[in-house]
Amino acid sequence: MQSSLVTLIDALLPQTQCRQCLYADCRGYAEALASGEADTDRCPPGGTTTAAALAELLGRPTKTVDPTYGVTKDPQVAWVDEGRCIGCALCLPACPVDAIVGAKKFVHTVITAQCTGCELCLPPCPVDCIELRPLVEGDTSAGLALRRTRADDWRERHERHRNRLAQAAASERAAFDAARRTVRPATSE
Ligand code: SF4
Ligand code: SF4
Ligand code: SF4
Repeated sequence: MQSSLVTLIDALLPQTQCRQCLYADCRGYAEALASGEADTDRCPPGGTTTAAALAELLGRPTKTVDPTYGVTKDPQVAWVDEGRCIGCALCLPACPVDAIVGAKKFVHTVITAQCTGCELCLPPCPVDCIELRPLVEGDTSAGLALRRTRADDWRERHERHRNRLAQAAASERAAFDAARRTVRPATSE
């Protein structure tokens, strides 16, 4: 697979990292498009404009977004009702760009400029105190323009998020292996 083509495709994607395309992130969908595994109709946040841009880049027929993958909404941002937040921290690992600030037993909040509006923090919240609000109230074009200006930052933040998780998993494996080596083999009577 050509990494330059993947990069060109990825540059057209909204970078919300929402997984509605059923890939792990925007880059994963870009790789699937480049390899021919996926069609251009799987990105609801990108809507018709992104689907058309992908089709043009890849020389494929223009398609609209398949509603199976979700509905195209105006750009949005998450907001925590801090009066109801119980500080469980379950939303933290769900955020693909680490846009939520908080610690266990403390109220959490969303850094608006870093939030992609992906909605992935909503299901883990046990008290439903996170809601989505328009990125720019009553102005879709302004919301889309603002979202475009943030896409590169979101891509970088997601990359750092992935690297952090990979490092944590590697440390955990190393600790587990070290613990196993210290366990004495069982002796038979
Ligand atoms: S914005 Fe969401 S649906 Fe679109 S490519 Fe990125 S992860 Fe997939
Ligand atoms: S705060 Fe919620 S909606 Fe915003 S990027 Fe993180 S998971 Fe997505
Ligand atoms: S999941 Fe909900 S209740 Fe728990 S810390 Fe996050 S916002 Fe607060």
